Amino acid sequence: MRPKNHDDYQQDALIEFNRDITWRMFTGALIYVACWSCIVIPYNVLLGNIIPWELMWVCFAFLASSGVIRLSFVYDFYVKSKKDPHTNRLRLYVGLLANSATWSGVTAFIVYHPEFESMGHFIMVIFGILYAFISLNLCIDKVQLRIYLISYILPISIAYFAKQGSDNVYIACLLWASTVPVYRIAMMHHREYWSLFHQAYLLKDYSAKLAELARTDDLTGLMNQRSFNQIFEQEIQQAVESRQSYGLLLVDIDHFKMINDSYGHLTGDHCLSQIGLSLNRLIEDNIKVARYGGEEFVILLPNATEEKALALAETVRQNLSASVFRFTEREFTITVSVGVAVIYPQQRTDAQRLFQFADEAMYAAKAAGRNRVVLYQ
Ligand code: GH3
Ligand code: MG
Ligand code: MG
Repeated sequence: MRPKNHDDYQQDALIEFNRDITWRMFTGALIYVACWSCIVIPYNVLLGNIIPWELMWVCFAFLASSGVIRLSFVYDFYVKSKKDPHTNRLRLYVGLLANSATWSGVTAFIVYHPEFESMGHFIMVIFGILYAFISLNLCIDKVQLRIYLISYILPISIAYFAKQGSDNVYIACLLWASTVPVYRIAMMHHREYWSLFHQAYLLKDYSAKLAELARTDDLTGLMNQRSFNQIFEQEIQQAVESRQSYGLLLVDIDHFKMINDSYGHLTGDHCLSQIGLSLNRLIEDNIKVARYGGEEFVILLPNATEEKALALAETVRQNLSASVFRFTEREFTITVSVGVAVIYPQQRTDAQRLFQFADEAMYAAKAAGRNRVVLYQ
């Protein structure tokens, strides 16, 4: 079995994260249904239908749609599991608000109904506790906890207080007291949720950053040699399979050592990064460029003819030799030698040999006096 890499850990964390949040939403939904069908409906029947059935259905529709809103959030996680939860939290808030408002409305209705007495208190307290559990399952941030307190606990406790009578005041106090454990447990969930979130998403960011760092060259921002080798091998294989031509340009700065020796390495570095910026313009035209080594650059040309490759090499050479480089009040110019090689479908060759051809052409350009383009024959 191969060892786990960053992507595997990220995938594991995402799966765990999805499982956890889905489990919470699912148990929450189950408790809702249980609450409604085992407590509200029988209680209503027991008290001789004090809540009209029409109102019951309206409340039920409200609860169901708030559940759907919240479950759609979960669905996004489950199906589009790479989605950042920051974008979608609104649905959780709206769902919770609709839910709390319905529950507190129903409760207030019952509390103020003339038939409300006797076992009503007890039932209401059970409501409160069950509701708290549901909210706990869904609380993944502090905003939701505040919504729960403001839209559920506050109106209901006001209703009890306003009704007066020692039992009612007692229940109102009990409701407020219950917010302490509710808050503590919700915060525990909240922390758990965020640690899962961080594992899943920060890991993703880290692995993306690491992959980016492993791909690019620090100084120029171009593709580095490792990345070039990978892409080059793949593309040559594809070109051979699909019987297409392929061109490679190898650009080497002339007498670069002299720039270092005369102006210092910092100036040399600055020059290389400026050349990187110049070559970056090619990338805008979808041409792949890499820094192969110290002061050597490669340009990949899939599906290229000799004419096209030579024309691009000449443009690059002229552009670079026309640039004036400035660093700490020093101004200088450079020239480059470019080796060009193109392979055609009938030539059965590989990446290594194409590179060798371009390298030989580049050395031929150096031998012929530098500042020129040579095509491998
Ligand atoms: P030519 O290619 O024309 O034969 O001459 P050259 O002086 O460019 O020859 P060579 O390829 O042998 O030397 C390359 C020099 O590039 C050697 C090294 O000092 C310099 N060099 C390589 N990498 C870097 C770098 O990252 N920063 C700086 N400042 N210099 C570098
Ligand atoms: Mg060199
Ligand atoms: Mg050189």
